[in-house]
Amino acid sequence: MTGDALHTTFHGIGVSAGTAVGPLVIVTPAPKAPDDEAPTTDAAAASGVVRGVLEDVAAGLEARAAKASEHARPILEAGAMMARDPGLAVGIDTQLQSGKGITTAVTVAVEEYCAMFESLGGYMAERVTDLRDVRDRAVARLLGKPEPGVPALTEPSILAAHDLAPAETATLTTETCLGIITEIGGPTSHTAILASQLGIPAVVQAVGIMAIPFGTLVAIDGGVGEITVNPTAEETGLLAERKRRRAAALAGGTGNGATKDGYPVALLANIGTADDARKAAKQPVEGVGLFRTEFLFLDRETMPTVEEQTATYTEVFEAFGDRRIVVRTLDAGADKPLKFADLGPEDNPALGRRGIRLGMIRTEVLDAQLEALAAAYKATGADVRVMAPMIATQAEATWFAARVRALGLPKVGVMIEVPAAAIRSRGILFHVDFASLGTNDLQQYTMAADRMQGELADLLNPWEPALLDVVALACEGGQAMGKPVGVCGEAAGDPGLALVLAGLGVSSLSMAPGKVPAVRTALGLHTMTQCQQMAAAARAGTNAAEAKSAVMKMADPVLADLF
Ligand code: PEP
Ligand code: MG
Repeated sequence: MTGDALHTTFHGIGVSAGTAVGPLVIVTPAPKAPDDEAPTTDAAAASGVVRGVLEDVAAGLEARAAKASEHARPILEAGAMMARDPGLAVGIDTQLQSGKGITTAVTVAVEEYCAMFESLGGYMAERVTDLRDVRDRAVARLLGKPEPGVPALTEPSILAAHDLAPAETATLTTETCLGIITEIGGPTSHTAILASQLGIPAVVQAVGIMAIPFGTLVAIDGGVGEITVNPTAEETGLLAERKRRRAAALAGGTGNGATKDGYPVALLANIGTADDARKAAKQPVEGVGLFRTEFLFLDRETMPTVEEQTATYTEVFEAFGDRRIVVRTLDAGADKPLKFADLGPEDNPALGRRGIRLGMIRTEVLDAQLEALAAAYKATGADVRVMAPMIATQAEATWFAARVRALGLPKVGVMIEVPAAAIRSRGILFHVDFASLGTNDLQQYTMAADRMQGELADLLNPWEPALLDVVALACEGGQAMGKPVGVCGEAAGDPGLALVLAGLGVSSLSMAPGKVPAVRTALGLHTMTQCQQMAAAARAGTNAAEAKSAVMKMADPVLADLF
């Protein structure tokens, strides 16, 4: 952070390009019932207060539901229903009558209710998350504090949080959320991924941003990772100029991805929900290169049925017509915990039973998903390609391919995100039809640096030459086997790196749809020979900064406007 209290500049890591100016809204943490709370002496009066607060919570959630996306609406409506549940109010009354302080009574009664719901299992058990959210909102109101989590945005605002849970980010819309700033998180954290999926400018690692008062005017540049508090007219003007130059560079061009001399590089979308699919399908993308299916189930306590999954997959496939859809089977574990596919605590979850390893243990979860994918494929005849996450060995690849093919699914592939698979991609590709490089995990494992740990962001810069070397190895295997190798990690959406990846032989790039225009423009400005030369120059760098600067020097000057 630099500057005085009124006019301050924060430098973080830009993870979703674009610029915006707006008032800052802080995402407040959930307050706890105070330990030294006074006991209740007038239970009837306290009961009236709690009921009023619960009604306010319900009305607030309902108002947000009315404006929320299709994905977030049911979550918010369920919360409103919980807040109005007469059983909950009676439970709180009992606690108040026993003399407990008002927020303690709410907390204890909600926990009792949660225990009962959990014992019922199924749909009821899933409501526990909604109940605890209602508790946090009610306790905050009773303490005279703002409700926790993402507040209802009444005007277009820039959101600041210590960190954002994926479910919270998913409730945001571009109409009211102009930008996202977090204090922690790295370039491949899920806040970053979801922000770019929503097309919202975002900066992570902006340490100290939470100290800026609510409502302060801030300017955010998600391309370079800069935040200016109380920007001057000159700064706002420069940002507007940058926005204009970027828009000019992006103008025109909606066709298939190709280099200046016509080498095709398919430009695909990364999606996580049916809502994402409908939005992405309206964009000029050549299909989906990564459907992260676990995002459909992040807030679920129990496994969704085959019928429910079939309905969702059918919806997604229909949205894309005859364009390709690469579906990744559940990648549960580590940074994407799924309650219904949990194998218990591990010391090193990122190196543990996650991805395909979990699928091979909980075969019923994987088989139900494949069954649903096969049914949706048969119903739509879509160009469906199914791939497994975290493949490390040929044995895993053959095991997965056999299961997918047995169900009549037409194409099977693997994600290459473990260095072993990149180094030996030739052997792995022998068993499958294609591979997609998950550069987020590939980098985490190449550098032995946790992708969730923002402090290690320097090791997680996707321009890192060691990562490029591992990508090159994977591509060599693809060329030897005559099978396509794409990229679906965040690196694919960086317009400069996209040139390097194309030069290394990558045949498709899959990214948040909002990033496609910049990558399309970058490719169209350079020939394949230039891309190959840039790839060689980047790999010759001794670190990420050198790799990037070598490429920027060789590139068309317009490339700089695309970030
Ligand atoms: C990756 O690891 O690069 C990837 C695309 O998968 P995810 O980010 O979902 O782990
Ligand atoms: Mg991954």
